[in-house]
Amino acid sequence: MRPSSQSPSTEVVLRILFDRERCQGHAMCAFAGPDAYPLDDSGHNELPPDSPVDPGLADQARQGALQCPERAITITDA
Ligand code: SF4
Repeated sequence: MRPSSQSPSTEVVLRILFDRERCQGHAMCAFAGPDAYPLDDSGHNELPPDSPVDPGLADQARQGALQCPERAITITDA
């Protein structure tokens, strides 16, 4: 067996699950995570229902989810 020069990746890919039906346009998600949560002109989150998180924005994604008073955002690594 040949030794591998590559180590297994330990990076976890997070996903944002967003329930648009719950979104009330508070914009708290974007205040906590301005680069992770795009808003439309009325202040509603305009993410698709399921989207991958750029690894560099993982903290913003988590903070934005925690700030949502409607619990419209779920962060998952599944
Ligand atoms: S904080 Fe929650 S309810 Fe408010 S805009 Fe963001 S996702 Fe929608």
